[in-house]
Amino acid sequence: MKIPDIIIAIDGCSSTGKSSFAKLLAGKLSFLYLDSGALYRGVTLFAQEQGLISKDNAISDCLRGRLSELDLHFDGQGRTCIGDRCVEKEIRSMEVSSQVSPISALAYVREFVDARLHAFAAHGRVVMDGRDIGTAVFPDAEFKIFMTASEEVRAQRRFDELVSKGENPKIEDVLANLRERDYIDSHRETHPLCRAADAFELDNSEMTFGEELAWAIGVLQGKFNVL
Ligand code: C5P
Repeated sequence: MKIPDIIIAIDGCSSTGKSSFAKLLAGKLSFLYLDSGALYRGVTLFAQEQGLISKDNAISDCLRGRLSELDLHFDGQGRTCIGDRCVEKEIRSMEVSSQVSPISALAYVREFVDARLHAFAAHGRVVMDGRDIGTAVFPDAEFKIFMTASEEVRAQRRFDELVSKGENPKIEDVLANLRERDYIDSHRETHPLCRAADAFELDNSEMTFGEELAWAIGVLQGKFNVL
């Protein structure tokens, strides 16, 4: 299928399966996959490791100035790195999950991440997932998807993911974290999570990856008149 050099924006609440689906779609189209949440997680890990978040979760104003030191990027295999250190495992921990939403609500953190996303996507042919990609980062993206799934399905997915990575979470903590992040993400002042008016909605609570992919390919074929 010959698809033009477009940007595909995938947004939605936490653990709706955005990144698995985005990776699959990017692979199918030979597009680059960019995980914007990984960058917010990377900033959070940096703030934690630099001692910029206090015990009562207050974020130091010094974070703004210290961001210029943060060399946050993806390596050739799409893994998140700080300098030459791969931080994929650390950024997915519950510790980072519990502090990422307040960090990503800061306007200067969003500017820092958005600048990187624009640089990475300069040549198009990108599938990017997040919370504000179709509304704020790439409002002109040619194909926008807003993903949803039931809360139970989302909590179970996140729980399974953490267990597969060797963590030992409680399902009620996972659910509480999802709810808290969704609340902060959709109520913050700067670029809150919401569905773009021109986004296609995809509820994948009861769909397999194959079905999700077939749906997206069908929409692309219709939109761009390609086989
Ligand atoms: O996608 P993921 O769950 O890894 O994202 C982690 C957090 O990063 C989200 O809960 C949200 O607070 C923040 N985020 C954001 N905007 C994006 C992507 C992620 O605010 N585009």
